[in-house]
Amino acid sequence: MKEFQTILYENPAQHVARIVLNRPETRNSQDTRLLYELNDAFDLAAQDDTVKVIILAANGPHFSAGHDLREQNPYQKMSEFETVGTWCGFTCAGAEAQMAREKEIYIGFSERWRNVPKPTIAAVQGRCVAGGLMLVWPCDIIIASDDAQFSDPVVSFGIGGVEFFQHPWEVGVRKAKEMLFTSDFLSAEEAKQLGMVNQIVPKEKLQDAALEMAAKITKKSLFALKLTKEAVNVAQDVQGRAQAMQTSFALHQLAHTHWSKLYNMLIDPTGLPPETQKALGMKIEKKG
Ligand code: ZN
Repeated sequence: MKEFQTILYENPAQHVARIVLNRPETRNSQDTRLLYELNDAFDLAAQDDTVKVIILAANGPHFSAGHDLREQNPYQKMSEFETVGTWCGFTCAGAEAQMAREKEIYIGFSERWRNVPKPTIAAVQGRCVAGGLMLVWPCDIIIASDDAQFSDPVVSFGIGGVEFFQHPWEVGVRKAKEMLFTSDFLSAEEAKQLGMVNQIVPKEKLQDAALEMAAKITKKSLFALKLTKEAVNVAQDVQGRAQAMQTSFALHQLAHTHWSKLYNMLIDPTGLPPETQKALGMKIEKKG
């Protein structure tokens, strides 16, 4: 068994694996290590024939605050991990390293987890922000606690949405535009009404509810579950999801390049609250 530092890997019931984000002190923000450990854990569960259902949960009051913007030298860090894609070029000049990194650990991982051929259940409490959505949207079932809130505020920082641009498929086209244009939170109740969340439960019952759902699913044949998941995912992809995802990823890279030319930063730093700018040590100097 691998030694994980940022997540926990558990078997809380027969045929069930549970992966728990375990950086509550950072509101489970995602650095490179956490994402690789998460990917290894999904592989572990996928490759274990005794596991039928995978639960993704999080320790602490909030599910995830998104990507860890405080990570130093993120491109150099890529060499510490075994990459799963073949694009590579993580220390290349210009826009290449950025695109390579995001293709590998952001859209690459989220697509990979979406296609893990076993049912996955996300158990979400508290805030689930930006990159947090890229962990729960790839899951098949989402169970939310009554205090769960979901938001993608990155339009405030000059980018058209997170890398795994699943918004229109999760909440519908009109609501996707509203949540992106305004950066407002969706409540658990609203997310359920829109079909993004399967079930809402009191916070203290969240893990039990995920296990209850998992127990029902583990009674089925694993082969039937794999075939069913593939059939539903393909149904969504033939409606154009996969192509739309590629286009939105290219637009996302254009936005990073734009802000890099203006501010030498991947985002529009003027959109961040002043205290965040200060915490990140940002010195804003516009080029030209
Ligand atoms: Zn990005």
